[in-house]
Amino acid sequence: AELPAGALALEINDITFGYNADEPVLQNLSLQLAAGRVLGILGRTGSGKTTLARLLLRLYDVQQGEILLGGVPLRQTRLRGLRQHIGMVTQDVQLFHASVRDNLTYFDRAIDDTHILKVLTELGLASWYQSLPAGLDTILGSDGEGLSAGEAQLLAFSRVFLSNPGLIIMDEASSRLDPATEQLIEKAVDTLLHERTGIIIAHRLSTIQRADDILIIEDGHLLEYGPRAQL
Ligand code: ATP
Repeated sequence: AELPAGALALEINDITFGYNADEPVLQNLSLQLAAGRVLGILGRTGSGKTTLARLLLRLYDVQQGEILLGGVPLRQTRLRGLRQHIGMVTQDVQLFHASVRDNLTYFDRAIDDTHILKVLTELGLASWYQSLPAGLDTILGSDGEGLSAGEAQLLAFSRVFLSNPGLIIMDEASSRLDPATEQLIEKAVDTLLHERTGIIIAHRLSTIQRADDILIIEDGHLLEYGPRAQL
């Protein structure tokens, strides 16, 4: 089945999952996230936050229960279609030895340069872009060699923004960036989440304040879940 365009609602119905069937990592987890809302997920290391993100991307299928995205059960989606609708931003940014343009578009020639430049500007990379010797044709080193951590992160955001997904999943870095970069990232996150559904595996206080709903997981169980204002 095809997923609808635009922000995607998420419904998780009583899912249980373990990498080994007899060792559940997530147990009887349920939640509903309306289209356009932002969910912050908190929990100790090993509580199952990343596992939940992997289930949404269908890197694994749940053993029990059901996940629906945009009203469509994940099991009925084509993997390729699904992953075009979900943008994932993690702490380690995957950049490759190719032009800035190709890094941002994954070689999709349908995305024109004007659009790319607009996105770079919106996400705070205008002055970085102006410093490039060959503009969008500038070749990046592999693994983001030559870029600061903040620039690499903002490029990852730009890439996700260009792919225009209906759901964004962010696994935030807990390491501190300098205050100016931090501020740029904060602003970029706002731009990215505008009119999209978002899930943030949260490590920063500022992100938790941005979330509409909060889920606290402990050992794979839902500990608390609801609108942020009520927790
Ligand atoms: P962190 O905050 O450290 O990223 P997390 O809350 O994201 O932790 P998960 O990475 O989802 O936690 O891990 C949950 C549990 O699943 C842990 O006990 C972990 O050891 C286990 N686990 C994670 N990935 C695998 C895997 N590929 N195979 C087997 N067990 C795994």
